[in-house]
Amino acid sequence: MSLLEVENITVSYGASQALFGVSARIDQGEVLALLGRNGMGKTTTIKAICRLLPLGSGRVMFDGSDLARVPAHKAARMGLGLIPEGRRCFTSLTVWENLHAAARKGYWDYSRVGSLFPRLIERRDQIAASLSGGEQQMLAIGRALMTNPRLLILDEATEGLAPLVRAEIWDAIAALKAQTGLSILLVDKSLSELREVADRATILERGVDVWQGEMAALSEQITAQHLGI
Ligand code: ATP
Repeated sequence: MSLLEVENITVSYGASQALFGVSARIDQGEVLALLGRNGMGKTTTIKAICRLLPLGSGRVMFDGSDLARVPAHKAARMGLGLIPEGRRCFTSLTVWENLHAAARKGYWDYSRVGSLFPRLIERRDQIAASLSGGEQQMLAIGRALMTNPRLLILDEATEGLAPLVRAEIWDAIAALKAQTGLSILLVDKSLSELREVADRATILERGVDVWQGEMAALSEQITAQHLGI
């Protein structure tokens, strides 16, 4: 049984349908890249998985439980750790306060998050609003880790960041995979970095999954056809 199974889901924003049947799965310890050009439904899929948008039809199973039966506020407690697009932190709280705001007991604690992102320790008493964009993204990832998720979901984690900081974030994701075997769902535009870290990929086109397979099988022909790369 996979940790996450998305089965043929549809999602609409009012009268406007965004997903027309998306399926995907993530096995324990696996890193899945969710790919697609702008507006193809990646963020909508992530929000539907996290119960932030209602399903029209289909099913999302997490560790054998149908998430439709789980109240939205409990989905996170079940182990879905979302870092949404735009890295939301509590801007008026300090780094330390942000990290502890949603913390739950488990492998990830302040010192382990600090080893992954030493800059967060250096800035522990600074308010989040005063951090650079890259540091805020590290804080957003650190906060999600402090909830001790079973599935970490990163939506555009490196978007708009300087190259050096992007490299730091990719190194951290690679370390998470190698050292802790955390299951991860990644949405990102950097295909070359995704190739380094993801095991499998699912490609969305106009709200439908059009390709699923091993990252190694993602040929130039497929990326040209579905991603325009
Ligand atoms: P991007 O890479 O640009 O973030 P995406 O693949 O994540 O794109 P979504 O944001 O999921 O795509 O959007 C899928 C479709 O749903 C698009 O047609 C978009 O215009 C539409 N959509 C997204 N959010 C809303 C909303 N709040 N209200 C209405 N339509 C929306």
